[in-house]
Amino acid sequence: MLITHDTECALSILVELLNTAPEACGSEQLPDTAALGAFVVKQEISEIDSLTGADLASVQLLRGRLREVFSARSTEEAAELVNAVVAAAGTTPRLTNHDHHDWHIHYFAPHAAIGDHLAAELGMALAFIVMAGERERLRRCEAPDCERVFVDLSRNRSRRYCDSRTCGNRLHVAAYRARQRSAEAEAVAAG
Ligand SMILES: [Zn+2]
Ligand SMILES: [Zn+2]
Repeated sequence: MLITHDTECALSILVELLNTAPEACGSEQLPDTAALGAFVVKQEISEIDSLTGADLASVQLLRGRLREVFSARSTEEAAELVNAVVAAAGTTPRLTNHDHHDWHIHYFAPHAAIGDHLAAELGMALAFIVMAGERERLRRCEAPDCERVFVDLSRNRSRRYCDSRTCGNRLHVAAYRARQRSAEAEAVAAG
């Protein structure tokens, strides 16, 4: 899969961001600028100078638009959604090696507002996924009561559940039962 480490990092921020939405987890996880500030720190998002109520509103709006890419019915639709998000962000790709990181590209304009920053970075990460022909890796959790999203980076694209505690456990239980069943089948075959 032609997905770089930088893209993987952006996808991880994307998933975290989408799963803060009320439709993903039942309540708004970014209710105020303090929560948004904590998100910025936790996800190590650079060059964010200040956060206002307008920033919060633009991030919440962006979240909805990025989530639509996960439910796009065709690659054309996904491409259109991604293009619209990235175009509105005013991207200016530039090489940087800030904070002892290796050289990498920032797509957001220097010190862009957080809504534009995330639209550029996360939109481009989605663009790379679509370009690599890996759009089906953008998934919604299959647990019946869960609306969280995840990016399936497993080799055989077999992941079905998000990594929340409940669904992650569900996955482990299912894997355990499957192992037990095959052990029993082997025992029967051997017996
Ligand atoms: Zn950087
Ligand atoms: Zn889930």
